[in-house]
Amino acid sequence: NEQLLLINRPSGLPTKEDFSFEQLDTPVLGEGEVIVRTLYLSVDPYMRGRMNDTKSYVPPFQLDQAISGGLIGEVTETATDTFAVGDLVTGILPFRRVNAVKESLLRKITSDPLPPSVFLGPLGMTGLTAYFGLLDIGNPSEGDTLVVSGAAGAVGSLVCQIGKLKGAHVVGIVGSDEKAAYLKELGVDATVNYKTDDVPSALETACPDGIDIYFDNVGGPVSDAALSLINDGARIPICGQISLYNLQKQDVGPRIQPNLLVNRALMKGFIVSDYAHRYAEGEAQLTEWLLQGKLTYRESVIDGFENTVDAFLGLFSGTNIGKQLVHVADP
Ligand code: NDP
Repeated sequence: NEQLLLINRPSGLPTKEDFSFEQLDTPVLGEGEVIVRTLYLSVDPYMRGRMNDTKSYVPPFQLDQAISGGLIGEVTETATDTFAVGDLVTGILPFRRVNAVKESLLRKITSDPLPPSVFLGPLGMTGLTAYFGLLDIGNPSEGDTLVVSGAAGAVGSLVCQIGKLKGAHVVGIVGSDEKAAYLKELGVDATVNYKTDDVPSALETACPDGIDIYFDNVGGPVSDAALSLINDGARIPICGQISLYNLQKQDVGPRIQPNLLVNRALMKGFIVSDYAHRYAEGEAQLTEWLLQGKLTYRESVIDGFENTVDAFLGLFSGTNIGKQLVHVADP
């Protein structure tokens, strides 16, 4: 067995030296537990926040302990009535090749005809984030202009598609031409490459009627440009701020408050778990759209537990399109 430890609290962008792999004994099955062999791990931007020793909506990772996150695995031993050998399960678990897990921390998944990895993507945390953030806070309707930052990522690519399903004019902001081309395949109306375009003027061209919804995944200067174009009654779901996660000192941007005020804008942060009581609804709708082909998704899969840190760091340089996963083993 093997686990991935956090051994230093990163300052700025994490490096490989902040992590270490440790060999472990194979866990022994305890009462009310199952043994879960990891098949896929999810690496997510929010994990960066857990590497700081600061209070947030999830507690910080402890040094010299396994980091944890979304995982899909296969039950290989069981001391419960709920789970049988061979069941596929998901949960937020320590990043180990094999875990002994209390049954209350696991959920059985049956995804057929979709592959089980959808439970870390469009039917998992990122799908529910896109669904509730856009529909509940963004409240899109026919003809609205929806701008999405981080638009080719796990959350963003779903927000763009759900926006199209609701009849919005969708503009995606991304960091590469390859990502822009992918969004065009998804039916996105216009794209802006924040690395090569002048964002304020490119956004103005892409949004001739202004912005009704700005779904923010990145924060920083990209968001400053979007917020300067909002319309009366604009809605701004603040989903993520990845451009700020590695800053060592809080950034200060243009003072856009007058624009929010005169446009009576709603800017609201949210954490997907705020919607836990409605997950069943979100999952049912997302499943229906996936099965109907109205929603598609992409995965960037890195092979090998030993490459988990590279997969995580890639989120900050934008190597992923769609959901970044680590493939650890086959069922
Ligand atoms: P993504 O799949 O979108 O991966 C991260 C992407 O962010 C990269 O591919 C990269 O794309 C982009 N990025 C990285 N650094 C920067 C930067 N400095 N400026 C602009 N873009 C950058 O991740 P997720 O879909 O999982 O998450 C997207 C956002 O949503 C994150 O901010 C995350 O924290 C947040 N989130 C919030 C949740 C909530 O409950 N509120 C739940 C889940 C996610 P590019 O090449 O385009 O730069």
